[in-house]
Amino acid sequence: MRKKVLAGNWKMYKTQAEASEFLEGFLPHLEDTPDDREVVLCVPFTDLGLMSKILHGSAIRLGAQNVHWETAGAYTGEISAPMLTEIGVRYVVIGHSERRQYFGETDETANLRIKAAQKAGLIPILCVGETKEQRDLGETESLIVGQLKEGLAGVDQSNLVIAYEPIWAIGTGDTCDSKEANRVIGLIRSQLSNSGVPIQYGGSVKPDNIDEIMAQPEIDGALVGGASLQPASFARIVNYQA
Ligand code: PEP
Repeated sequence: MRKKVLAGNWKMYKTQAEASEFLEGFLPHLEDTPDDREVVLCVPFTDLGLMSKILHGSAIRLGAQNVHWETAGAYTGEISAPMLTEIGVRYVVIGHSERRQYFGETDETANLRIKAAQKAGLIPILCVGETKEQRDLGETESLIVGQLKEGLAGVDQSNLVIAYEPIWAIGTGDTCDSKEANRVIGLIRSQLSNSGVPIQYGGSVKPDNIDEIMAQPEIDGALVGGASLQPASFARIVNYQA
């Protein structure tokens, strides 16, 4: 059975004080969480060190939201993979649509980041997905096939998670129909050489739709933005009813 991966993406939210407060509220909800699922928190760089200490010995995994492809160098403002693994980070989100839209990231840079992450022992979460316009033009399938082809060129598929995130569903409350998400995720799987890669759905996942999403056979987890910011709401998501 494929591993289920429930990951929160905090984006640029939460100071260290707010992150500690979140964990105080969140950890008690995990006592009965089934061990068929991995719970990941992808948080701002500044929260990682403190959270790594608080979460030491816990089952929650830490994730970053980006990583540079060089191990060190004159790249002002960037963070390398060894800097992340040194403080206990296990996952890293790569190619999120907000990075593509606002910071000029491409399939090519996603590919470089994935390889650097894997080399250091991090598990990359590669985000792919179409805009509303691309969907309306019937380009969803060709776009995603292209993103996978370029993003995964030469990549080891034994250490990888993919997130299907239709851009029109991110932060809008307009969740993709679960059967349609299942269909696109099936298409993504058909493009992979390893059918065991966990593939998440992301886009307005909430406590009231997670059970239906996770009931879909191709969907192996969720990448959750807004609803991962409140302990009770993210707890309900990670404790989805199978
Ligand atoms: C995301 O940030 O990847 C995301 C899916 O956000 P939201 O859950 O808020 O739509």
